[in-house]
Amino acid sequence: MNDVIPLKNKDQVETMRLAGSIVGGTLDMVSREIKAGMTTRDLDRLIEDYIRSRGALPAFKGYQGFPAAACISINEEVVHGIPGDRVIEDGDIVSVDVGSLIEDYYGDSARTFAVGDIAPDRKQLMDCTLNSLMTAIDKVQKGNKLGEISATVQSVAEAHGYGVVRQLVGHGIGRAMHEEPQVPNFGSAHEGPVLEVGMVVAIEPMVNMGTHDVVTMPDGWTVVTADGQPSAHFEHTVAVTENGPDILSLA
Ligand code: MG
Ligand code: MG
Repeated sequence: MNDVIPLKNKDQVETMRLAGSIVGGTLDMVSREIKAGMTTRDLDRLIEDYIRSRGALPAFKGYQGFPAAACISINEEVVHGIPGDRVIEDGDIVSVDVGSLIEDYYGDSARTFAVGDIAPDRKQLMDCTLNSLMTAIDKVQKGNKLGEISATVQSVAEAHGYGVVRQLVGHGIGRAMHEEPQVPNFGSAHEGPVLEVGMVVAIEPMVNMGTHDVVTMPDGWTVVTADGQPSAHFEHTVAVTENGPDILSLA
């Protein structure tokens, strides 16, 4: 990445809303279809079919060699889980991250889903992670420092005693999946570039029940918590507008 933050005009933002609506629709479909007994490969197949049915490409497939349409990460898996033979079980929390590519623009969104009856502490982790994202999205206002997003995620998550992942961050998005600027989930509110109308960012808190430390598995992709405790991940693609945040990744 270079240091230039590409600004999008209104037409480009509308194309990104199309890309975003496809990932939003995909995750709505997952919320209806996910259930104990399916494998993560079963779920990935549904996701790829859905994205292609909307006329888009599954943007993760082939990205730096990633072999599937979605990253599916269960319990202690934080992000970048590779779909395969693992069976989803009652009580699991399952993070699903999907990307779309249509008309040369990308959409990117993630949610963590509860499967069956989950333990109350897992529910609280999920709720807090989503809350950290939505509270941070309120800070997507022109003239704010980007660090206000980062500091908000961190303060909401750490107020519950959770660990905010440091090694992986959010990002600008547009004609590339990952553009400037990086959007950390931690740091000072006074740091980073000033938000301008036309910036589009993917904000994606990864919040661990325990330590913020993570480890990459020998498959080279799957990131897990260092202490084996569960993790949650929520992500939206958000544009900076004259009127505040515009969430593009809604169905
Ligand atoms: Mg994502
Ligand atoms: Mg992302």
